[in-house]
Amino acid sequence: MKKATKVMALAAAMVMLACTLTACGGSSKGGKLTFGTNAEFPPFEFVTSEGVIDQYDGIDMAIAKSIAEQNDMTAAIENMEFDSLLVALQNGQIDAVIAGMTATDERRETVDFSTPYYTATQVMIVKEDSDIAAAADMADKKICVVQGYTGEVCVNDMGYPYEAFKKGTEAVMELVNGKCDVVVIDSATAQKYVSDNEGLKIVEDASAFESEEYAIAVQKGNTELLEKINKSIEAMLADGTVNELAVKYTEAVAE
Ligand code: GLN
Repeated sequence: MKKATKVMALAAAMVMLACTLTACGGSSKGGKLTFGTNAEFPPFEFVTSEGVIDQYDGIDMAIAKSIAEQNDMTAAIENMEFDSLLVALQNGQIDAVIAGMTATDERRETVDFSTPYYTATQVMIVKEDSDIAAAADMADKKICVVQGYTGEVCVNDMGYPYEAFKKGTEAVMELVNGKCDVVVIDSATAQKYVSDNEGLKIVEDASAFESEEYAIAVQKGNTELLEKINKSIEAMLADGTVNELAVKYTEAVAE
């Protein structure tokens, strides 16, 4: 082979290798992968001074960043109300939703979900001296939930009256201030609120609350993006990355 041909062959081989390593091609929105979230849900997403993506940090944010990088894209975050996420996804304002979102049958009617990456359950946060020991004990109590969360769906299905707040912190403040008796919310987030606020405890009731699986949502039928996301998540589950992130951020927020 002549020298020039050799150099070209080498260059071509390197490009091919780079493509294999970074999964070239098929990038969405010019190499940017925009995730919608509601950064009010520690340890999965919260706002901090130096996050993994801009000011956003948490387990989901680290997963989003890695998914984008594994597919040779850059992750961007659009922070919005939890209730607006699926609409924004359907409008094409965002490419995917990563928000500690439980893959429910109801949501599956409008979006497609990735391979699940985290198992959670609803729990009850109560004052330390509360007599609530099971979900049925909420019957005559004042219940707080967060609007649009699966916790609201559960309490609604149980037939109990409740008050819904826009943010988890608002619901927990009602409890701290003695204006409500119990907050129903996802387990890891509950843990964070209990470690942040004196005098609260968690009550579990596995017979009343089914386990839930968090997954990333994409537009219905967007199989190209879904396959990329699934491949990346499966790699992060297999090599222990998701687990490491869960441990890291649970400890970080428990400080
Ligand atoms: N897992 C709950 C849900 O999907 C809460 C998610 C969240 O607040 N980010 O409704």
